[in-house]
Amino acid sequence: MRIVGLTGGIASGKSTVSNLFKAKGIPIVDADLVARDVLKKGTGGWKRVVAAFGPDILQENGEVDRAHLGQIVFSDPDKRQLLNRLLAPFISYGIFWEVFKLWIKGCKVIVLDIPLLFEAKRMDRWSKPIIVVWVDPETQLQRLMTRDGISEQQARNRINAQMSLDWKKTQANIVIDNSGSHEEMKQQFSQVFAQVTGPLTWTEFALSGHGALLTLVSVVVAVVACRNLFNNDGTKQ
Ligand code: ADP
Repeated sequence: MRIVGLTGGIASGKSTVSNLFKAKGIPIVDADLVARDVLKKGTGGWKRVVAAFGPDILQENGEVDRAHLGQIVFSDPDKRQLLNRLLAPFISYGIFWEVFKLWIKGCKVIVLDIPLLFEAKRMDRWSKPIIVVWVDPETQLQRLMTRDGISEQQARNRINAQMSLDWKKTQANIVIDNSGSHEEMKQQFSQVFAQVTGPLTWTEFALSGHGALLTLVSVVVAVVACRNLFNNDGTKQ
């Protein structure tokens, strides 16, 4: 199975690209959705976060007030690190579980849509190729302010809270430059799509659901053949 990593910076256009993959029928594992699940009321992640940040971050119905928590962590790097540390194991487990389910189904290519791919160190080792959706800083700022309806300062805080997008670009196998129009981005996407859905390498095939089964069957056949060919004492029949 090929696990394509899709990442970028806030408002660089990851979700837009992810939706294009989805429209082409490629399964997506969305780390943001997993991260939402691990904060649901009563889960292990929820318990840890409430214990660390106090009941003030809860709504009346007991769910975490994400907007409030977001404000706290985006303006305080220590609290942001604390939140990441508390939730990282739950998010990693949730992502592996989603990938595993798709592997069992025999999917050949999946996209791991994970904003913090490089921050979550183990994840980038599992993804190949890694696509970084890049955008120039001014466009990123404007799109973020428009999309989230926030002030310039709030937008800058959110951008600065992440690793540099320029650095991420240097780590990519494939870069989609989303500074231009939707149309320009879609043209790049078509080329990238052809590239990532090309034939699997032998390693990717061996790691796919069907490949693993075929490898297992081959090993069993080889063992049975060897047993028939040789006597128990190792002499040839
Ligand atoms: P991310 O998932 O990286 O945070 P989004 O995909 O939500 O970013 O894109 C951020 C905003 O920019 C959205 O409002 C989206 O509609 C808009 N957007 C994305 N790509 C383009 C583009 N090429 N031209 C204009 N607007 C865009």
